[in-house]
Amino acid sequence: MGIQSAKQRPLLLDQLSSSTFDLLVIGGGATGAGIALDAASRGMSVALLEKMDFAFGTSSRSTKLIHGGLRYLKQFEIKIVHEVGRERAILHRLAPHLVVSEPMLLPFVKGGTFGKFSTSLGLWVYDLLAGVSGKDRRVMLSKKKTLDREPLLREDILLGSGRYAEYRTDDARLTLENVKAAISYGATAANYVEVTGFTYDADHQINGVEAIDHLDGGSLTVKAHQVINAAGPWVDDLRKENQSMNNKHLFLSKGVHIVISHEHFPLHQSVYFDVADGRMIFAIPRGKVTYIGTTDTEYKGDKNNPRTYLEDVTYLLDAVNHQFPTVKLRLDQVESSWAGLRPLIFEQGKSASEISRKDETFRSDSGLISIAGGKLTGYRKMAEKVVNMATKTLASRLGKSWKACQTTQIPLADGVLSSEKDVSAFHKKIADQLESVGLDSYLAWYLVHMYGAQADDILIRFRKADEMTEAGLILAELAFGMEEEMVHTASDFLIRRTGRLYFDIHSVRQHAGSVIAAMARYFDWDEDRIARETQEILREVEEVSTFPSESEIVLT
Ligand code: FAD
Repeated sequence: MGIQSAKQRPLLLDQLSSSTFDLLVIGGGATGAGIALDAASRGMSVALLEKMDFAFGTSSRSTKLIHGGLRYLKQFEIKIVHEVGRERAILHRLAPHLVVSEPMLLPFVKGGTFGKFSTSLGLWVYDLLAGVSGKDRRVMLSKKKTLDREPLLREDILLGSGRYAEYRTDDARLTLENVKAAISYGATAANYVEVTGFTYDADHQINGVEAIDHLDGGSLTVKAHQVINAAGPWVDDLRKENQSMNNKHLFLSKGVHIVISHEHFPLHQSVYFDVADGRMIFAIPRGKVTYIGTTDTEYKGDKNNPRTYLEDVTYLLDAVNHQFPTVKLRLDQVESSWAGLRPLIFEQGKSASEISRKDETFRSDSGLISIAGGKLTGYRKMAEKVVNMATKTLASRLGKSWKACQTTQIPLADGVLSSEKDVSAFHKKIADQLESVGLDSYLAWYLVHMYGAQADDILIRFRKADEMTEAGLILAELAFGMEEEMVHTASDFLIRRTGRLYFDIHSVRQHAGSVIAAMARYFDWDEDRIARETQEILREVEEVSTFPSESEIVLT
């Protein structure tokens, strides 16, 4: 069994320094985690190195949809529509608690981009190409039926709508479940280990990486027969380090989402709607909140810390207030937000929203394979493609052979829940248990959709807690995170493992102190470390919930 507990880190670093891996993956986002799982499950020895926390980059900051890829249809990217539609069905089967049906309403309005006929035809073609079947097939709705489903929509311009299938996920948890599954197949995965350079053999072929440990400050060399660069927005930094940039390079586009409490924007169902500038954005209800996004603007700032600016928030609020005029959202009602960077492949003369989302792979003369572009939805297929490429070269070089891709058959998150029916029965069981101690039904929904069957492991810890309260439940969740999911910092837990900073920011404000105190006891932190963790959480809360003007930031 591989290492998943934060306390076993010394052993983990030891394993990294003392082995020669078949494959080393740089980047613990969805792409890197998918590659690690694909390769480990074929029988390769695999190392996965992430410079911050798993899913720290784009893979915790997306719209969190497992798309059928409707927008690609608009751009006539037929092959992508087909591929992501197929992937969506696979991911729903592998993690039915985490890739959940989220029917989407596509209203057509007077003067809008699409009319009834084009919407109907477009969604029909989309269903066909994406292989959508049964209850997921598109349904066309009259104006009245549309308003029955979503009474907040603007009535005076509404003509009707199409209802089509999308699936919602939690991107960071999907990434993490891939990391954990990879570990269960023997991969050695470490967060907070940053690759700073490559090592080469006498023929100038890469045979490992130099790295630094951001938690304890040491450095290490990790040896591998094949290195894969899956560093998302940082892919070109590593290609430059390898001196292997060619005529293709990344174009970063920033996308912002804002979060409003459900009370202020009581949306009944997800809507994908037109904005005045010709773009389209999503409004998606999730638990206690509704989130709205996204923007799509060229980005040249600090990749580690893209921020939500006042201009981004105003754009999204204006779009909502235009399409849902009775909600009258105000800036002070935006309780949280996130900003992510799309690592797109630059295309001459195209704007951020026009650039294709397809993925590309590059192999350098010294053997580095880099993968960039693509979508969260396509991560499994991207991984399969890259690992196929790597095994082909390695097989002839090392005289070894491995199994073919296995990942269409590897359930995520323990795999005990294998259908929507299992998920609802399990949800009921957890809701009954929490209700018996007076806890809110939201918490059952949250635990089941974030952790799947692993919610049982959290409740086992909860039953031993001093208090059977929400605070006690959070500490049980934290214990699970530290013992099973390599939680090293309060941000790992409150942002990536639980999504609380975005979807339940009040719980972060209320419980961050006790989370840090419990971590201090578990890891034996000194006062300095406690102060740093506290500062870090305060900074994160401040940054997602206050919005400076971009022009002021640029001027200062
Ligand atoms: P990342 O998640 O960024 O992972 C790269 C990782 O590499 C990072 O964690 C980083 O810390 C690490 N790293 C970098 N350098 C080093 C180094 N030197 N050493 C070690 N580690 C390193 N896709 C969908 O399918 N559905 C959506 O709804 C959707 N919405 C989106 C909305 C927005 C606003 C954005 C920005 C993207 C969206 N996407 C969506 C696209 C999707 O999120 C990305 O394609 C995907 O998350 C990219 O994953 P990745 O692993 O390639 O990159």
